[in-house]
Amino acid sequence: MGDVFKFLNLPRDPGQKFEAEFRRRKFIEIYAPLQKGEAAEQAGRCLSCGNPYCEWECPVHNYIPNWLKLVEEGKLFEAAELSHKTNSLPEICGRVCPQDRLCEGACTLNQGGFGAVTIGSVEKYITDEAYKQGWRPDMSKVLWTDKRVAIIGAGPAGLAAADVLVRNGVKPVVYDRYEEIGGLLTFGIPEFKLEKDIVVRRRRILEEMGVEFRLNTEIGTDVEFETLLAEYDAVFMGMGAYEYMKGGFPGEQLPGVLEALPFLVNNIRYRMNTLPEGERHLSMEGKRVVVLGGGDTAMDCNRTSIRQGAAQVVCAYRRDEANMPGSKREVANAKEEGVAFLWNRQPVEIVQHNGALGVKLVTTQLGEPDAKGRRSPVVVPGSEEIIACDHVIVAFGFQVKPEQWFEQHGIKVDERGRTVAQARQTYKHQTSHPKVFAGGDQVRGADLVVRAVFEGRQAAEGILEYIGVW
Ligand code: FAD
Ligand code: SF4
Repeated sequence: MGDVFKFLNLPRDPGQKFEAEFRRRKFIEIYAPLQKGEAAEQAGRCLSCGNPYCEWECPVHNYIPNWLKLVEEGKLFEAAELSHKTNSLPEICGRVCPQDRLCEGACTLNQGGFGAVTIGSVEKYITDEAYKQGWRPDMSKVLWTDKRVAIIGAGPAGLAAADVLVRNGVKPVVYDRYEEIGGLLTFGIPEFKLEKDIVVRRRRILEEMGVEFRLNTEIGTDVEFETLLAEYDAVFMGMGAYEYMKGGFPGEQLPGVLEALPFLVNNIRYRMNTLPEGERHLSMEGKRVVVLGGGDTAMDCNRTSIRQGAAQVVCAYRRDEANMPGSKREVANAKEEGVAFLWNRQPVEIVQHNGALGVKLVTTQLGEPDAKGRRSPVVVPGSEEIIACDHVIVAFGFQVKPEQWFEQHGIKVDERGRTVAQARQTYKHQTSHPKVFAGGDQVRGADLVVRAVFEGRQAAEGILEYIGVW
């Protein structure tokens, strides 16, 4: 079998250069923050076109041209207040949104080939800089009610719901099984995309506004769901999507094959110095790594492996580059850092040989478009090859897993386990239990931070109407 193992001729130089650079920066890379003049300059590039496509493509429909104008005029606190009118986590979306597919992709300047206004970096600048200068959300006009809402999950959906509720005088109490807020913002997205202290700062902002967090508390284990129903006026569920999607081919259980999220979380906890006792750091230093998948999670595994000092990182994806689900920016970053991509390759087996692993891949071609216009990969006969490696990281995404107590409380899920909580109904995002609302990945399936924020905000509006505050 050794003969058929393929050793790729990888572009080592860029990777090595990056590795040294990461070491120098202690593995932390944050996109260089804009300085005051640069933010104003970017803002000044906005054409204020009569038809702001950027606003439409932004899932929370931010008032982008308006806050760009305020930045240009140096009215930073006003810009911060305005940006929070539509987005509960603007500094986070500014960092992690795939802007190339959303706001910036729709910018008229981009369409005209002049390069989009860097909307994401201005959005993050507004809150970062305003906070530094002493801005805090204006809660002076809030009329407090005696209503209380329980929120399960301190991810983007739960935090956004809490933000809207507290600004409307309702007390949100947020429960999460983890020791810190953020959901996948903290325990998923790597630090080089989103610094963890930004999430901690957001916790402080929300606490100062009146949101209460009860962390290290799992609903269904530490506190019963019935207790929440009995003690609160409504319940919002933003529990995410955590069921690992397997490839379904032989060899996935072999030692050395890792699931994406535990690998990423292990590294985050290692870096935060919070690895549970007895859990060792999964380091790819000096190893040959194959990452399977083409989404943002796969890109995070690629880039984390490179930062850990992997000897080589190969990413195999079954469609071509144009049809990858991951953000173009993330793919470009991964390439630049030395990740070698194998497009149109589908894994069919993982094998073990002489203490190493091998990923058996077949080449695919794109077939006819399906009903959604997406072209399915078709296997090219006789195209098998095996890539030798020390670790395989499987990053095929996540599904929603309904809790067992859903059925007992009449909370309906669809055929993919997603909680049914429609946006368009009398009370937005109400589930089949009238007192219970839901949003984010739990309802949509694994998606984006900004969409979870939008659904959390929308659900909060549904709750405000349901409990009679609106
Ligand atoms: P989550 O963020 O998953 O939060 C759910 C929370 O609920 C968790 O904190 C969990 O502990 C808690 N919870 C669940 N059950 C219980 C219970 N019974 N009791 C108490 N608490 C409970 N999106 C982007 O836009 N940009 C990116 O760059 C990006 N990168 C990603 C990288 C990775 C590795 C992954 C996995 C996802 C990424 N995403 C990205 C997707 C994004 O993180 C999610 O879409 C988003 O976090 C969903 O928010 P949510 O609030 O619905 O769920
Ligand atoms: Fe762009 Fe995301 Fe900000 Fe909307 S929330 S303006 S899509 S970066």
